[in-house]
Formats: sequence, structure tokens, C-alpha cells
Amino acid sequence: MAEQKRDYYEVLGVDRGADDASIKKAYRQLAKKYHPDMNPGDEEAEKKFKEASEAYAVLSDPEKRRQYDQFGHAAFEGGGAGGFSGFDFGGADFSDIFGDIFGDFFGGGSRSSRGSNGPMKGANLRTSVRISFSEAVFGVEKELDLNLKDTCKTCNGTGAKPGTSPETCRRCGGRGQVVTQHQTPFGTIRNSQVCPDCNGTGKTIKDKCPDCHGTGYISGRKKIQVSIPAGIDNGQSVRIRDKGEPGVNGGPRGDLLVEVVVDRHPIFQRQDMNIFSTVPMSFAVAALGGEILIDTVDGKVVYDVKAGTQTDTRVRLRGKGVPSLRNKEVRGDHYVTLVVQVPDKLSNEARDLLRQFDGETGNTLEAVKNMENGDGSDGGDDKKKKKRKFL
Ligand SMILES: [Zn+2]
Ligand SMILES: [Zn+2]
Repeated sequence: MAEQKRDYYEVLGVDRGADDASIKKAYRQLAKKYHPDMNPGDEEAEKKFKEASEAYAVLSDPEKRRQYDQFGHAAFEGGGAGGFSGFDFGGADFSDIFGDIFGDFFGGGSRSSRGSNGPMKGANLRTSVRISFSEAVFGVEKELDLNLKDTCKTCNGTGAKPGTSPETCRRCGGRGQVVTQHQTPFGTIRNSQVCPDCNGTGKTIKDKCPDCHGTGYISGRKKIQVSIPAGIDNGQSVRIRDKGEPGVNGGPRGDLLVEVVVDRHPIFQRQDMNIFSTVPMSFAVAALGGEILIDTVDGKVVYDVKAGTQTDTRVRLRGKGVPSLRNKEVRGDHYVTLVVQVPDKLSNEARDLLRQFDGETGNTLEAVKNMENGDGSDGGDDKKKKKRKFL
């Protein structure tokens, strides 16, 4: 945690009770002021823009805002090694805001290709990893085998044949960007675009490096360890710093975002931190009470069913759910629906006992049995069917 983060409300200049509209409005103003395309090369502005965007991503999402109000920045700081750094803010919907303010020139959202021949951070890479239900519950270390670009050692990333050097791009004069003007409802906006001749590097290469064909990079398979925290849910991402695309002109590498795909479990279902399952119990246990075994993510537990439990009764096993991403000591609950199993195969003896039981409790089966009396059969033949209608 290198630097002290400012309070999100302070960043947006709104008070803690601000409604969604005021938060959106405050962010729009800041975004307009500090947007990198309005302030090419201004690192301070870029920092402010990112800070405001992060604050907006949290405060515009009711769930994240609630967590932030409760826990502050700690709500989004991950524990554990491997570079897990909380949620990926990519989920926040900026498109309507930027759509309003910047029109289509905000474009596809890849900020890494912003035109500038200064150091630029590399693009983020995305990949996914499949894990089991219990790996998601308890966390797991995974090894990814990925194709990653590395700086070409032959040319040190310049892309030029050893002994030669890249030349200043004529089209952009080495600035790496060409400027166009856009008419928007907010007035004229100068829009910098990546120079198509040099791809924003400000340099063109005459004699290409033979090893990397002028790209400056060599691709190769890399093994990357990813530490997936306990409590992660399907669709959430783990961010691994500096494992994305290499930066340009000495900029830092982008990040690797690993989306987690969680396999379905044959009996457990999950909703946030809670687990749900259905467990059968016999009619006798439901009526008389008794112990049954229930599968949980921690193994089997013995549960004492109360006498007279109805089918579809839901019971709660406290703390047998999924751990919180923030603190794995805090766990959700496991809700179990107890369902009475009706036996479909009965011995003659069991049948008689059930009839006896039914008579004892004054039910209709006894009456039907009396109707069937005379032929001594247990019933079940086709010709008996019309009698069963009376049930
Ligand atoms: Zn090279
Ligand atoms: Zn150029």
C-alpha cells in the first residue's frame, strides 16, 4: 500500500449523503476537466482522472458504496500474495458518462494506445482460469501457461537492426500523435490520435531487427503463478501487476487480469457468501426426529432433526458458507432444505406396518384397504385402479 488514498467523497467533492445524480454530475465535471485526451502528456491530470474514475466506480455502485462506507478503502484491498488487489473496476459502467461527454472518440476503452511518445504503460491482458467450487471457497494457487511478449534482447526493444537506430517519424515529427478537432456540445475538442505511421512511438524503423521483425518484442510461453483468494466468485477477476503487454518507450508493463470461471458443484449452489443444498430425510426421521448426515464444504456434519419436521424445512448451518474476500475468517452460512423421501420400494412387512400406522392415525388408506379386502391382494393390478381413485 504505497501511497495514502484520498477519501472517495473528497475526491469527487460531494458529501457522504450525496445522491446518485450529484455523484454522477461531480464525476462528469472532473472527468471533463482531467480527461487525458484534453491534457496530453499531463501526468498530474491523468492521475486526477484515474482517481476520480476509481471513486466514481465505487460510489456509483450501491453495493460497492455500501462496502466503502463501512470499511473504507480496506473494502477493496486484497490480502494475500500474488498481487491480488481487490476487485477489478472494469465492471463499472462508464460508457453512458463518456458517451455523453466525449462522444465516440472515447472509443473502445483501450487507454494504452493514447498517442504520446513518452513512456506509456502497456495494455492489460485478459485470460481466464477454471477452478472447482471448493477451490473458489477456500482459495487456490494456479499456474497459468501464457504467451507473453518480452522486450527483444537483440535490439533492446527498439525494433531496429543492431548498429542502426530508429528515425524520428516524419508524419508526427516524433510526437507520436496527430491532432484532429471535434465539434461537441461542449465546444471544440482537440483530439489526439495515435500516429498511424509510427503507432505512437514517434519513431520509424528503416532496417528492422531480424529477431523481432521490428516489433521490439519476442513472444514466448511463460508460466505465471496466480493466487486465487478464498471466497472468489464466478466472473470475478484477479489482477496481477506487470504481467500484461510491455510498455512503450520505457513505460511499465500492463497488468494481467485473470477471470475466474467456477465449475458447478453437483449438490451445492452458491449465492454470494451463502451455500444452498437439499438433503433427503426419511419419513420416520422427520416424524420422530433423529440424526442425519449433511454434506458441507467442510465435510459431513451431523444434524439433529427435530421431531415433527415438515418436508421443505430449511435449516441454517452457521459459518459453513463461503469466506469473505476481505477476511476469510468471516464466513457465510449454509442453508439446507430437508426433503422427506417417499420410499418407492417397500417390503410386504413395511407395507403392513405402514397400513397399520395409517389406521392408527385415522387416514383413508384403511378404508381403501377394506374395499380391496376379499381378494387378498396388495393391489397394484390394473383392474384395481378404479378403486384407487377414491384415494
Ligand atoms: Zn529486436
Ligand atoms: Zn509518427
